[in-house]
Amino acid sequence: MSRFFSQKYACLVPYTPGEQPKERKYLKLNTNESPFPPSEKAQRYAAEAARHLELYSDPECAPLHEAFADLCGVEKDMVLATNGSDEILNFAFMAFCDKDTPAVFADITYGFYKVFAEINNVPAKVIPLREDFTINIEDYFGATGTIFIANPNAPTGIALKRNEIEQILKANPDNVVVVDEAYVDFGGESCIPLIEKYDNLLVTQTFSKSRSMAGARLGFGIGSKALISDLKTVKYSTNPYNINSMTMAAGVGQLLDEEYTRKNCRTISENREFLTEELKKLGFTVLPSKTNFVFARSNKIGGDVLYTKLREKGILVRHFSAEKISEFNRITVGTRDQMDILISAIREILEEK
Ligand SMILES: *Cc1c(COP(=O)(O)O)cnc(C)c1O
Repeated sequence: MSRFFSQKYACLVPYTPGEQPKERKYLKLNTNESPFPPSEKAQRYAAEAARHLELYSDPECAPLHEAFADLCGVEKDMVLATNGSDEILNFAFMAFCDKDTPAVFADITYGFYKVFAEINNVPAKVIPLREDFTINIEDYFGATGTIFIANPNAPTGIALKRNEIEQILKANPDNVVVVDEAYVDFGGESCIPLIEKYDNLLVTQTFSKSRSMAGARLGFGIGSKALISDLKTVKYSTNPYNINSMTMAAGVGQLLDEEYTRKNCRTISENREFLTEELKKLGFTVLPSKTNFVFARSNKIGGDVLYTKLREKGILVRHFSAEKISEFNRITVGTRDQMDILISAIREILEEK
């Protein structure tokens, strides 16, 4: 730390992204990327946009907002595109949390919520999951803060039903409820249909997982016009050109190939069921996932040992050291071939023991 670093950030513990090592070629099952490339239209549109990079990107993101609003069945001033959904989440912390409006979230959930609370100097009210890693919705009734729920949750993969989120919305009419739907396309129930009815609901989604565009950095907030207008105030006060022209074009292209996205999500969901069954056969406990990853623990080998041994074999998965989940690994669902390689490697590791 330099002697110039602001006091207010001196204690900040930054988010630790999943590793992206370059020293050798790994089978990457650690950051929940798609094993499939973006649609060809997305690639072509991005290449075309690259020819005009001398110009600023469109701060209003008009074509992209229209295309995404269409997909969601809402009006175009009910969506806001951001630089990954991490940015819309940070905007929500900036816009809707305060000293006396803490951020409320689960003890085991997306690690960035804690960091956003800290950097925005907002208190965090952390609610433990149940023993079985499910969310008890009643813990969120009358929460007196801005609620952040990843649904499906990460890294557990477990989803709440739409009507359960609706009960949280009803019980907190004076609090914003942010539903982070990063993984919803793999089998969850989206809360977008509730937006008309609840002006306190903000849904966030990303193109990083189901739409194969993690490297493009594109996310969205979807909510009432008033909420979106607040978030636009934050955007225009930080970075009006937050979506670069290539990403904007790629996003439009990807949305023109929605059937391609659907097909990839179906394949991933099938491969997830295959992986789950195979892991169970090997004696793993696998939480019921509605995402493109599984969260699994073995009764034969520790979570950190399995992580290390897989890494030695050229396979990266994600291990978290937090006590409650240190026996687990989070494994991204890839192609069927990738899953076969993973299962063989795990079988070998268990036999070596
Ligand atoms: C991946 C992820 C995000 C954000 O992803 P971006 O790449 O910034 O869009 C947000 N929430 C959860 C729970 C995630 O897993």
